[in-house]
Formats: sequence, C-alpha cells, structure tokens
Amino acid sequence: MALLKNTKSNRTLNEKQWEEWNRTIFSLFWKIWLLTLLVELLLFLFYSPTPECSKSYYFYLFIVRPSGLELLVLVGFELAFTRLFQSHSRRVVSIYTILLISLFAGITVCVHTSVGMLPAMLLLPMMLTPLYRDHLMTLLQAVLVILLYIADQFYFVPNTPYMLPQTSFSPFIEICIFIGGTIVTYVILEKVNQDVVINEERSRRDSLTHLYNHEAFYEELEYYQKEFEKEQHPFSVIIADIDNFKKVNDTYGHAFGDEVIQKVGQLFVENSKKEGFSARYGGEEFSMLLPHDKPEVIAEKIRADFAAFTFRTSLGDAHFTLSLGAAVYDRPRESASAFFEEADSALYQAKRNGKNCVMVHKSETSK
Ligand code: GH3
Ligand code: MG
Ligand code: MG
Repeated sequence: MALLKNTKSNRTLNEKQWEEWNRTIFSLFWKIWLLTLLVELLLFLFYSPTPECSKSYYFYLFIVRPSGLELLVLVGFELAFTRLFQSHSRRVVSIYTILLISLFAGITVCVHTSVGMLPAMLLLPMMLTPLYRDHLMTLLQAVLVILLYIADQFYFVPNTPYMLPQTSFSPFIEICIFIGGTIVTYVILEKVNQDVVINEERSRRDSLTHLYNHEAFYEELEYYQKEFEKEQHPFSVIIADIDNFKKVNDTYGHAFGDEVIQKVGQLFVENSKKEGFSARYGGEEFSMLLPHDKPEVIAEKIRADFAAFTFRTSLGDAHFTLSLGAAVYDRPRESASAFFEEADSALYQAKRNGKNCVMVHKSETSK
C-alpha cells in the first residue's frame, strides 16, 4: 500500500473520461429500462386475472408504476447530470451512479413485493462498486442497500396492493439474514477494491523506478493546466536527462545502467515528497511537476546531489552527471505538450552548454 498516492488527476475525470462515463452509463440504463419493460409486458401476456387483481389493475401495478417511475428517475438524473451539476469529481460521479443504480434496483424490488427472492437484486449494485476505485463507495452502497431492504420489508411489503398468500415467516429473520449477507459481500468487495486500486496504481507506475510513467505525467500536467485556468496559480516543470548515458551502458553494462537510473529516480522522489509529482518520462529521462514558479532551486539540488554521488563499480569509483531543463507556467499555453516543449528546449540548451547544468526557459541559468 506504500505505493498508493492519491494524485490530483486521479481524483478528477478529464473531459474525455467524463463524456465517456456520461455516454456509457445513460445508454446502459436506457437499455436496462427497455429490457425491464419488455419482460414486464411478457409477464403481462401470461397473466391470468383473479378476483383481487384484474388485467388492467395488473397492468397499472406492474407495468405503468415501475416503468413510469424509472423513466422519471432516468430523465431527471440525465438532465441534472448533463445540465445542472456537470461535476468532474470522481467521487461525485460515483455517488451519482450509485444513487441512480440503487433507485432502479429499489423500484423493481419495492414494486414486485410478491416475488420472494427479488431483494437479492439489491446486492447487484454493490458488486459493481470496485469499478469506482474508492472503498467509501462500497460502504455507501452497503448502507443504501440495507436501508432499501428495510424500507421494502417494513413499508412496501405490508402496504402492497396485491400480494400472494404469505407464510408466517418473520421479517426480522429475513432482515438479519439480508444484513449478514450484505456485510459478507462488503468484506469481500473491500479486498477486490484494494486489488483494483493497487493494479490501477501499478499501471500508472514505471516498474524499474516506481515513479509515475509518461501517461500519468501527462494526465497530471493537464490537471495542473486546467487548475491554472481556474485559479491562475503558476506551476513549473523540470525535465532531466542523464549525460553520456550510452557510454555508461557501454562501459559498465545495462544492469549497472539500470542502477544509475534508479538512483536518479530516488533523487526525484526525495525532492518531490513534500510537493510535486515525479515521473520517469522515458528511458533515462525524468520529469517533475511543482506547484510553484521556482523550479531552479530543486533542479539545482538534484543536479548537485547526483554529481556528488559516488557509484562503486567493478572498475572503481565513478561519478555521473545530469542535465536539467525547466519552464514556468505563468500564462496560458495552447496545450500541455506545447508547454513541455519549452522545458525540453531548455534541456537541450543545457546539453549544448556543456551538460551537468540547469537551464530555465527564457534563458535564465541557475548554475
Ligand atoms: P546525452 O548526454 O546527450 O544525453 O547522451 P546520451 O548518451 O545519454 O544519449 P541519450 O540520452 O540519447 O541516451 C539514451 C540511452 O539510454 C540509450 C539507451 O540505451 C539508454 N537507455 C534507455 N532506457 C534504458 C534503461 O531502461 N536501462 C538502461 N540501462 N539503459 C537505458
Ligand atoms: Mg535521453
Ligand atoms: Mg542522455
């Protein structure tokens, strides 16, 4: 679990993810709505009327009521989500989905009170909660499931307008069994949740250095860029490239080259612990995002620490160096990659200036 770090981009859906979620969830629910209606109509065709329940009363109870309520919920949620809230917070979107899915399950269960096994359906939304990658969502869903079941047993079942003859089985026993089942499911899902979060975090990491990878870096950079548009809070980026690394590999071998890469990774982690976000951008290239406009201080510290570090090799002690480029985001740019190019050009300037130095875009040198 030490691997886990809740990054800013991880807590928010970007525009593409948000639209994808929007499309997926509502098209799925429209299909569920239509399918449920078809099943209800099919059951209606085979229904033989009784003195307590005519065909038209059955039609109202089990077709108009559930499908009408679900239609209202779906249209209301879709309008609220796409027009009113438009929140991109992963947690808000998850809560929203949980409410929608629970209402759908709740309506079906509370309308069809005469079908004994139907409350088991309330557990289905809970099974989906690992998708939200947030263990609090499973807990929220578990609480909702129990509340819906209690409402079903204490309100909807006794007040049902049409009911098959019941046995004398106590609702308390049923509630205890249901709550027990829900808690067991919750405990199992907690484990699934943890695995999902850890695997997702792994997919955002580089396996050699455990730093974030190129994709995670860009997600975070785009997040910082969006925040700048809202808050005008400047930030900066540092990129580093090991000097003459091909020669290091050729002289000491690739396995030793990997150790050198790991050392740079360690320096990046140490220097971004308090604030900032470090990534292995490419082979022997590293990047860091900092939430302020003074990248040269940390860049210079990393450069000096690395140059001073002594590697013990089979050919004796060795020292290596790094070149670093930095840029400050203090005005809007066309894209995240256009901004990154500025730091990249500063890095090339550092290489041209003889390596083992820091260059900040706008030709300011801190060494
Ligand atoms: P410069 O000072 O101009 O940066 O010269 P350089 O020799 O470092 O050139 P460059 O940055 O292009 O070198 C990249 C080399 O890094 C090429 C590749 O063999 C090596 N490399 C990339 N990824 C890895 C890795 O995971 N492990 C090891 N050992 N080497 C790697
Ligand atoms: Mg390189
Ligand atoms: Mg290099």
